[in-house]
Amino acid sequence: MTLYLYNSLNRRKEKFHPIRPGQVGLYTCGPTVYNFAHIGNLRTYIFEDILKRVLRYNGYRVKHVMNITDVGHLTGDRDMGEDKMEKGAQREGKTAWEIAAFYTQAFKKDLARLNILEPDIWVKATDTIDDQIALVQILEEKGYSYRTDDGIYFDTSKFKDYTKLSHQDLTALQEGARVEKNPQKRNPTDFALWKFSPLGVQRQMQWDSPWGVGFPGWHIECSAMSMKYLGDQVDIHCGGTDHIDVHHTNEIAQSEAATGKTFFNFWIHGAFLIIAGGKKMAKSEGNFLTLDNAFVKQGLNPLVYRFASFQTHYRKPMEYSRESMLAARNGLQHLKNQVRQVVGDDGKADGPVSEVHRDKFLEAVNDDLNMPRALATVQELLKSDVTPAGKYATILDFDRVLGLDLDKVEACEQLPPEIQDLVNQRHTARKTKDWAASDRLRDEIQALGYNVHDTPQGMKVIKK
Ligand code: AMP
Ligand code: ZN
Repeated sequence: MTLYLYNSLNRRKEKFHPIRPGQVGLYTCGPTVYNFAHIGNLRTYIFEDILKRVLRYNGYRVKHVMNITDVGHLTGDRDMGEDKMEKGAQREGKTAWEIAAFYTQAFKKDLARLNILEPDIWVKATDTIDDQIALVQILEEKGYSYRTDDGIYFDTSKFKDYTKLSHQDLTALQEGARVEKNPQKRNPTDFALWKFSPLGVQRQMQWDSPWGVGFPGWHIECSAMSMKYLGDQVDIHCGGTDHIDVHHTNEIAQSEAATGKTFFNFWIHGAFLIIAGGKKMAKSEGNFLTLDNAFVKQGLNPLVYRFASFQTHYRKPMEYSRESMLAARNGLQHLKNQVRQVVGDDGKADGPVSEVHRDKFLEAVNDDLNMPRALATVQELLKSDVTPAGKYATILDFDRVLGLDLDKVEACEQLPPEIQDLVNQRHTARKTKDWAASDRLRDEIQALGYNVHDTPQGMKVIKK
């Protein structure tokens, strides 16, 4: 069955064909590790996870690379403002390296709690400085760069397809950019490939380069890393819609200028998580919620957020509210109860998969990851006359995409919601190998009158 994906390059749904038969190269822009990820960021990582799982569901082998931006990402996208890492270090009285290590771990923990599959390759920007310098050298040799007092810049006027992704009107942008911070820039859209450390300032993260001591521009890292691990021409690159106009546009310009080849065939972007009133959730807006604050500490299983995000198509803004999350909690609980009804005594999924429902599910996810439709198919299956064993087998097949731990419902009897929340938290603690929390939660559940047994099939919780 054909997979259709909306390609931001051409602004339409297109048939997906990989460059190499059966294999897909996937690059997803990773976090800047100067703070916790907020649940808006995590919405984007959930959509990317669905994309990857759908590719696998279609039988493709996926090679997935994600970067960790641990250096030199300024607070403004256009090479102005402060360095986020150094600012984070000052705020917390730690080194920039400690900040990066701490928030990288926190990010990976969030991914695990959301059942987001890890990439095959994690790359830190600071581990590929040489590759980034080499790429800037190529651009210099080909005449695309120039020097200003604060760094080496890419001359966007020399790359004729500069707006092919953003579809921006550059004249409007020129007029809008009257307050230009660096008057030596030739065009408002030019961007830094390499920034010099300011004179007299000892930065924590800086490197020697052919142009002077400094640090790489933000965009060059994703170009260098994706080329290093996936090659010059790759299948799919993703991120949030905020990356279209600057970050991804600049990645394309510098990569295609360097190689003379099409960089990525598909550019896929997820819409924002917004809050009431339509405002984007953003670190800079001070309105951001983390998975810990909004879910774990409120006794809500993080998978409630994953389930909630399936209710809105990834290209539409999703509004966060506490009420909608509580509704999602009930929805997920209801689904688990429904699944529990079809699990046989032995907990095995040996019924035949219902091909009719599998085809419908595949058709939904292959229609540009239409998760609301995929969830409707799940309900159709559960209400159909397929045998319980067939329903369970089909649900577990769907869960390869859904990632909602629907294989773990058999081990629990129907529990009151407050006990179920503790059980869910303990699942998460065990998944992230947080044994202290796992033990504490077991004691809590037992104190409330339930026995907890860890069996090879999962956790069994039974009323004393
Ligand atoms: P950053 O760490 O700022 O580079 O962001 C990490 C990812 O989250 C990027 O792909 C962004 O496009 C995405 N992102 C940022 N804010 C939001 C939001 N409110 N909703 C959804 N995605 C977002
Ligand atoms: Zn990137």
